[in-house]
Amino acid sequence: MSQYIPQQLDEIRAGVIAAAARSHRDPAGINLLAVSKTFPVEDLMQAYDAGQRVFGENRLQEAMEKIPQMPQDCRWHLIGPLQRNKVRKALQQGFALIEAVPSLRLSEAISRIACEEGIIASILLEVNVDAEESKHGFSVDDLRAQWDELMALPSLDIQGLMCIPAFAASAQEARPAFASLRALAEELRERGPLPLPLLSMGMSHDFGIAIEEGSTNVRVGSAIFGKRDYS
Ligand SMILES: *Cc1c(COP(=O)(O)O)cnc(C)c1O
Repeated sequence: MSQYIPQQLDEIRAGVIAAAARSHRDPAGINLLAVSKTFPVEDLMQAYDAGQRVFGENRLQEAMEKIPQMPQDCRWHLIGPLQRNKVRKALQQGFALIEAVPSLRLSEAISRIACEEGIIASILLEVNVDAEESKHGFSVDDLRAQWDELMALPSLDIQGLMCIPAFAASAQEARPAFASLRALAEELRERGPLPLPLLSMGMSHDFGIAIEEGSTNVRVGSAIFGKRDYS
């Protein structure tokens, strides 16, 4: 168990405020998601006791084990890939936001099952801004081409876009990817009718740059909880 989580959380909060000040933004418009994947519930509780309420998990199974062990006023984002045959489980779990919806096909599945469950599913569309072959996400061209179809899907609340840029040696190298996600969101807002308020971008090493480029949701894991051990 790390003794440093409250302290590290404070540092990240200060970093968010500093980046907001640099870019003349209101820090209240920036949500800090504590990415708790691989960390035990005791670590999440330390963050909770230090005031953190929104947690991100990238595996449904792991999230479903942790959620019942945490206080009920926590909110949860699913930030990892979601298989179509797990959509119903994910919706029944009641995530506040499903962040990484990479295709029209999965959007359709979520829409259909949300209708059946009688709920509205809040999602973000994941965009492969660097056009990396190996990566999930809508290509920019597909998202433009499929926008009208996406808009027509019932029971789906598309709140914005998210991206995971290609691994970069320095945070500055991710800046163009963040800027292009923001530009794409602006373009789609103009097409209407959705306000698309959320832009989920920026992680431990580059959240400051992402905020400068307009991020509203930073997803920070290792800078809060420490190094992940996948063994
Ligand atoms: C793990 C993960 C993060 C957090 O990464 P850190 O570098 O630990 O901050 C953010 N977003 C997604 C989608 C992740 O899977």
